[in-house]
Amino acid sequence: MPPHILLRELDIPDIRNFDVYTANGGYEGLRKALTMKPDEVTQVVKDSNLRGRGGAGFPTGLKWSFVPKVEGPKYVAVNADESEPGTFKDRQILENNPHQLLEGALICAYAIQATAIYIYCRGEFWDLAHNLEEQIEVARKAGWVGQNIGGSHWSCEVYIHLGAGAYICGEESALLNSIEGKLGQPRVRPPFPAVSGLYAAPTVINNVETLANVPPIIVNGAAWFKTMGTEKSPGPKIFCMSGHIARPGNYELPLGITFRELIETAGGVANGKKLKAILPSGASGPMVPGTDQVLDTKLTYEDVAALGTVLGSASVIILDEDTDIVWATLKMARFFRHESCGKCTPCREGTYWLEKRMEAIYGRKAAPADVKLIEDVAMQMQGKCLCALGDFATSPILSSVKHFRSEYDAYVASAQPAVRPAAGAARGRAAAPAAAGD
Ligand code: SF4
Repeated sequence: MPPHILLRELDIPDIRNFDVYTANGGYEGLRKALTMKPDEVTQVVKDSNLRGRGGAGFPTGLKWSFVPKVEGPKYVAVNADESEPGTFKDRQILENNPHQLLEGALICAYAIQATAIYIYCRGEFWDLAHNLEEQIEVARKAGWVGQNIGGSHWSCEVYIHLGAGAYICGEESALLNSIEGKLGQPRVRPPFPAVSGLYAAPTVINNVETLANVPPIIVNGAAWFKTMGTEKSPGPKIFCMSGHIARPGNYELPLGITFRELIETAGGVANGKKLKAILPSGASGPMVPGTDQVLDTKLTYEDVAALGTVLGSASVIILDEDTDIVWATLKMARFFRHESCGKCTPCREGTYWLEKRMEAIYGRKAAPADVKLIEDVAMQMQGKCLCALGDFATSPILSSVKHFRSEYDAYVASAQPAVRPAAGAARGRAAAPAAAGD
């Protein structure tokens, strides 16, 4: 097994300790970056084709290059709001390898000439945030945080900001609002954060895992990074394995391995059961059935997209043959209704009604037309919401109906006649809550 690049504590115990980190090459990336021009640092990251590990897969160096080269404040915001169901990789980095994140964030800040870094941790990470603060102070004493970093003319502060546990604050503009002390709701774009972000200044927002990749890229070069993974999706990736899997947990593997290899690495489907479906990116990406075609698909941004789903943050949830897909979809509909911030109508109303009709279907109180109704509502939401959460909320509904229609049909076919409404009334119920009786 090659050494881990991100989950280094698996090879080097106590790498979270500053002295152990520096004894094993820590802060050499930042040291090297400081000998380069800021644009050269961005170019190396661009050449590596590192893609954002938070979900969107946007090229990291390209994102940095969007920041205008103007005088005045600029910021780096680290997205440590890891909230996607089934995602727990950033937590492991924050807990066990915090200096690699800090070093990556500092390299990014140098590349865009930022003067402050804000690490936005989800509210439940209060203990990790406390530990991170201690490590920042250790790095400060060593000259890597604060004034004249590494003996250079560049200075940069690092602040921790603790959220309140809202999923939507992982959305980049809501995250910025939250740091500013405003309601954690997405902003209308444009302007985009690279031009007008935190406190209206140019801001780069990167995920924890993304930034943890940066120090080894600067030390070893872009060509080294591209020896792992595929041409369009290079480098290592942490896959979060959960659900009905024999050995749940985080697995750092090169992008480009197949679903089958990943599941085998994690011990296979739990209890020797058959695979029914996979959620490749938590609740927010469409589920796919556990067919041979899916199992032989490479885990890259483009190959997974060709399946009609997304790799996202690679929070892979395994569903075995006994899983009730309608029940699982109801859980996800409930999650998105709860996490919708309410700012825009299609998402606020759509997530509410998706949950209500899913409850009716699962409760055997729905008509066959309700299956069509939830599809219609989901499709009406798509592309009409202010942020990605609205589209995320439609993914479990549309994909489960597409791939597991027979399970929905079985529920509505067994609805109790006494409470089963006429099929033609379905659309009217959606528009008239008082008449729905639910
Ligand atoms: Fe808020 Fe949903 Fe609209 Fe996003 S899509 S702004 S979460 S209401």
